[in-house]
Amino acid sequence: MTQEQLNPLVLPDAQGNFGKHGGKINHPDLAEALAEIEAGFRSIIADAEFIAEMKRLQATYVGRPSPIYHARSLSARGAQIYLKREDLNHTGAHKINHCIGEVLLAKKLGKRKVIAETGAGQHGVALATAAALLGLKCEIHMGVVDIAKEHPNVSRMKILGAKLVPVSEGAGTLKEAVDSAFRAYMADFKNTMFAIGSVVGPAPYPEMVAYFQSIVGHEAREQFHNAYGGLPDEVIACVGGGSNALGLFNAFLDDNKVELVGVEPAGEGLDKPGRHAATMTLGTYGNIQGFNCYYLQNEDGTPAAVHSIASGLDYPGVGPQHCHLKDIRRARYETATDQECLNAFLTLSREEGIIPALESAHALAYALRRAQELPADKRLLVNLSGRGDKDIDFVLEKIKGLY
Ligand SMILES: *Cc1c(COP(=O)(O)O)cnc(C)c1O
Repeated sequence: MTQEQLNPLVLPDAQGNFGKHGGKINHPDLAEALAEIEAGFRSIIADAEFIAEMKRLQATYVGRPSPIYHARSLSARGAQIYLKREDLNHTGAHKINHCIGEVLLAKKLGKRKVIAETGAGQHGVALATAAALLGLKCEIHMGVVDIAKEHPNVSRMKILGAKLVPVSEGAGTLKEAVDSAFRAYMADFKNTMFAIGSVVGPAPYPEMVAYFQSIVGHEAREQFHNAYGGLPDEVIACVGGGSNALGLFNAFLDDNKVELVGVEPAGEGLDKPGRHAATMTLGTYGNIQGFNCYYLQNEDGTPAAVHSIASGLDYPGVGPQHCHLKDIRRARYETATDQECLNAFLTLSREEGIIPALESAHALAYALRRAQELPADKRLLVNLSGRGDKDIDFVLEKIKGLY
């Protein structure tokens, strides 16, 4: 497997399906627009010049490879804990990996603008960054409720030159922002490209985003082998839509001794409908926003309300590849509550001097729990998908009077 390849286990068939999950869009106009993006994607990934340009930006702009760090204080609990430091990338998370890929593709297709939705603003900031770098316009649709909540990211997008479109329909959050961004895209798909922020949506997005994120796993597998010998026993990542997890898992899919573990938000508890976002654990099969997957749904099939302390994990659906990996039992999916996440956030900050994103702290929470169950010669590799600067005020507010 070369650096640029996805494992066949997570490649779609010609209809964009991963087992019974995924799929293509039916809407005629949109199908035509997505076919153009898919054809462009197939052509660039076979183009040595494109790959060279992407690698140049990964190394000199993003700062890749990100290191693997052996967290020795954390490891005093039992099993050894290693962190893949995606938090050290430019813009502070893994999302820049696929945003640079998507904007490079948009440019290649002759588009002048990229459009996307954003929830907490992380995808919006990463996309605005890549668009500024590569000279494209950027339009970000964001619910008015999220705009009020996520002030620093809103400011960053504005400074980076993106146009922010406030969405006041419905609950004024992520789902409405997705619908609004799709409408804007359909009105002008000749000049624009829609840039999704995770391995979700209709084909070709799940495959395309996974491809751009696969660098994380390819690096990690080689780094781990070279620095520590052999392979980790478990490879662990948080799952919102599933892009950072799949990016890491991909390189280990053929290593049958390596367990792959996705960690979902149990929020305030799995027994509280509407107060968690444990899609893989409690979701049921159906179609959400143009693709099939397990998702948390109401009786009438509409997406259910979800919650997580980490806004990047707060989505009722999940990438089709993860659903397929669960069906074939190649990966398993665990959960961590808001409280466990907060504890892990503070533990990493105080024992290792690394402030993690609340999203990443879910993966860490599971790893801390798991480390205590395993002997000291077992090794856990955790994707630290992002840094927690964005979360510090929120966390201080939450723990007021407790510490
Ligand atoms: C957006 C985000 C996530 C969740 O997205 P995935 O597609 O599941 O990776 C996780 N961590 C960070 C830091 C994020 O910004």
